[in-house]
Amino acid sequence: MARNLLLWAVIAAVVLALLSSLPDTAGGSSDLPYSDFITEVERGQVKSVQIDGREVRGELNSGDRFTTVSPANQDSLVEMLESNNVRFSIVKPEGPSFWSQLLFALLPIIIILAIFMFFMRQMQGGGGGKGGPMSFGKSKARLLSEDQIKTTFKDVAGVEEAKEDVQELVDFLRDPGKYQRLGGKIPRGVLMVGPPGTGKTLIAKAIAGEAKVPFFSISGSDFVEMFVGVGASRVRDMFETAKKQAPCIIFIDEIDAVGRSRGAGIGGGNDEREQTLNQLLVEMDGFEVNDGVIVIAATNRPDVLDPALLRPGRFDRQVTVSLPDIRGREQILKVHMGKVPIADDVDPFIIARGTPGFSGADLANLVNEAALFAARSNRRVVTMNEFDRAKDKIMMGAERRSMAMSEKDKEMTAYHEAGHAIVGRLMPEHDPVYKVTIIPRGRALGVTMYLPEEDKVSYSKRYIVGRIASAFGGRLAEEIIYGEDSVSTGAQNDIQQATGMARSMVTKWGLSKMGPIQYEEEQQGYLGNQSQMAHISQQTAREIDETVREIIDQAYDVAKKILEDHRLQLDLMKDALMEYETIGGDQIDDIMEGKQARPPKDWEETKAKKEQAEADAKAKAEQAKADKASAKAHEEKHAERDQADEAPTDKQE
Ligand code: ADP
Ligand code: ZN
Repeated sequence: MARNLLLWAVIAAVVLALLSSLPDTAGGSSDLPYSDFITEVERGQVKSVQIDGREVRGELNSGDRFTTVSPANQDSLVEMLESNNVRFSIVKPEGPSFWSQLLFALLPIIIILAIFMFFMRQMQGGGGGKGGPMSFGKSKARLLSEDQIKTTFKDVAGVEEAKEDVQELVDFLRDPGKYQRLGGKIPRGVLMVGPPGTGKTLIAKAIAGEAKVPFFSISGSDFVEMFVGVGASRVRDMFETAKKQAPCIIFIDEIDAVGRSRGAGIGGGNDEREQTLNQLLVEMDGFEVNDGVIVIAATNRPDVLDPALLRPGRFDRQVTVSLPDIRGREQILKVHMGKVPIADDVDPFIIARGTPGFSGADLANLVNEAALFAARSNRRVVTMNEFDRAKDKIMMGAERRSMAMSEKDKEMTAYHEAGHAIVGRLMPEHDPVYKVTIIPRGRALGVTMYLPEEDKVSYSKRYIVGRIASAFGGRLAEEIIYGEDSVSTGAQNDIQQATGMARSMVTKWGLSKMGPIQYEEEQQGYLGNQSQMAHISQQTAREIDETVREIIDQAYDVAKKILEDHRLQLDLMKDALMEYETIGGDQIDDIMEGKQARPPKDWEETKAKKEQAEADAKAKAEQAKADKASAKAHEEKHAERDQADEAPTDKQE
């Protein structure tokens, strides 16, 4: 690394310069206080003296050498030496040597150059670690060659749908020519949407690993630099390099850092980002599908992306990667538990049940922390005890960062969603509720999904009132169960939606007692479809507010009545959500009939498999016990005790 050598050279030069500017101390002489020196001179003991600035060096008659320091005014010193007949000489004051002068003159320049180079290096991504990704060309993209990638689909668990969605990309990358001859059509860009830590990067890497193609990765924020034009040139550079390596994958993490809608930034200062985005669009249009480059981008906020990015031929394919449900979590735990020695008492299913809202990354971290706890207490295997401690640690640390939920939050979310769903089911003309989940999506803690029966182009008044009522269902359920003072802030979005619909009924759709008059003007601008009040009087404005209020109050009361009359259903649905986390139409039907929900379809399969595995494990443990009956390691005794404690409470439910 030439730059590194240069840096060291500069440091060495500076040190040398500092050293050379230090006064050289003459060897073999001792220091003499000035007063003693005067005494010696007056006693005639001084043979000769050399005055070098304020330093006085000399030799005594005895042959000993000395140095001393004289006062600033040396007239008296000279006088005294003269009157005592001491031989003395004065050293010509010598400036710094030519070389050190040159060095000092150049020093500032050298330092500035060094700092500049340091930052340049930083911006280039500062070289890769051994065997790891290498910094690549001018673009900051990091390249993993096909044999550096060890990740395959086996490492990705609990996101089966996403894996299926990307399977064809693997087929294509393995042999683009063949795939196309068979008539396969491949997207150029795939957008992976999902919360942080759900495995988007992991999936992208696994695609490369499965197809055995190189993998370029870069983060959207790497494009956004302080210098205008750098981002755009990085994009150009990256695509150029990638095309040479085709077939390959370019992975852009956090694409929203560059891909936000253009013009959305208020107050300018976004030129750089826009240029970068434009360059990205140009590049994506520029390459042919058969170039064999697939761009995969990841984001948590697809809503803020520039629509131009999502147009056909760009990122026109979306793959949703959501937080894993209880079964997904079990699978993910198994993947990561395969890497550490695990005690027999550890049941991934129980851990999965206790970790709602955990992402794949959280779970990987959980296993890792548990292993650390085990190592710290000198255990050879990780037991359930360590997993509990690790869970507490992560839940506490992650409170804000991730969606990890406590049992209490989980219950509240379950009631909340059940409220939406039950009101939704019972309001006339409401879209059928087909799925309810307490797995967090986006920034919502849970979701109740309605499925419109057909694509509707217009909505009846009854339909909209129903939607307003079901929007309040969540908050109302919380209120009914926990009391008015315990209602959470989780209903913000619901309230916003309900108010929006009620307002539109009055001001836009003419669906209120204020008649079919438009009170609002659409204003289409880059600020979105915000609307503005047309020229209306204050009187009218007040009337609008009152009418909106009336609509909302009515819908609220209807929803409240429904939930109070269906307390049983509310509790049943809460129980089902606590147990299965996600329920579908079948379960909702059962609950509405006042029955306990049947388990979801795939639940039965998982359970059967689990029971089989449990039986196997038990047989194996029994065998091992018999074998080791005499050995009885302390470790194992402990593990068994834990298992005995755990079994009755958690195993059958
Ligand atoms: P994202 O890109 O969505 O933020 P990552 O792919 O970087 O998330 O995930 C971080 C880590 O979390 C992975 O390296 C992996 O160890 C773990 N992880 C996340 N999701 C999964 C999953 N579905 N299966 C197995 N491990 C996962
Ligand atoms: Zn809600």
